[in-house]
Amino acid sequence: RRATESRHNSEICPALNSPSQDIEEVIENSKKAGLSALLAVAEHAGEFDKIISLSQRFPGFIFPCLGVHPVQSVSPEQQRGASLQDLDAALPIIEKYKDHLVAIGEVGLDFTPRFVSNDTDKESQRQVLIRQAQIAKELDLPLNVHSRSAGRPTIHLLKEQGVERALLHAFDGKPSVAMEGVKAGYFFSIPPSIIRSEQKQKLVKQLPLENICLETDSPALGPEKQVRNEPKNISISAEYISKIKGVSLEEVMEVTTQNALRLFPKLKLAIRP
Ligand SMILES: [Zn+2]
Repeated sequence: RRATESRHNSEICPALNSPSQDIEEVIENSKKAGLSALLAVAEHAGEFDKIISLSQRFPGFIFPCLGVHPVQSVSPEQQRGASLQDLDAALPIIEKYKDHLVAIGEVGLDFTPRFVSNDTDKESQRQVLIRQAQIAKELDLPLNVHSRSAGRPTIHLLKEQGVERALLHAFDGKPSVAMEGVKAGYFFSIPPSIIRSEQKQKLVKQLPLENICLETDSPALGPEKQVRNEPKNISISAEYISKIKGVSLEEVMEVTTQNALRLFPKLKLAIRP
């Protein structure tokens, strides 16, 4: 039994655009691979309806997370940092579906130079994250957090805001910074790209298994670069973590499932602890 996280980011990686026509097959293959539940994670208000209808089409298997990502697409070619205006379209829909959500996400900070050119851009992303951290608190939901080139500022901001439940997904910062998150009780999810990422391997060496979850980040971050990733690949993360940690695959599966249930209690509907 495994819980994973999956997301839509065709906007970020147009080359990995996921055609919806094979969704049945993707779901079937993930069930065959032993998955009990998937999180579908939004990046902007324009895809909230799609995420909600996926969760209604596969009830008790696909669970929705809604949030505004720190990078927003103007067009497939053009992306910019998120601003408070991007929240205007998102907030009424989050309010409408609040009882169905398992987390607010994907939220976070992305200080990749092509998305932020100055401190104003960074501040704007901070404000969007702070507002969503408040909403998560009001709704008693965890945060699903993206950080890129912003590991330290992201963890510091979460702690400053008093965030208690957070998943740092595909964390690209230093292990020492991640350990500050561990002290705050945060979880870190590890994608299948760990097999080709020395940074993720170092991270897993340091992180206690009790703070690790599995994710695929489909369609990105698969075992092979530029090949569409799918939830069934979650086993690649589990196997690699078991090798690094020197524990059995069963233990990795069991502990990461329990971690996912602690972080996302609503998954108990799909996975009996
Ligand atoms: Zn992300």
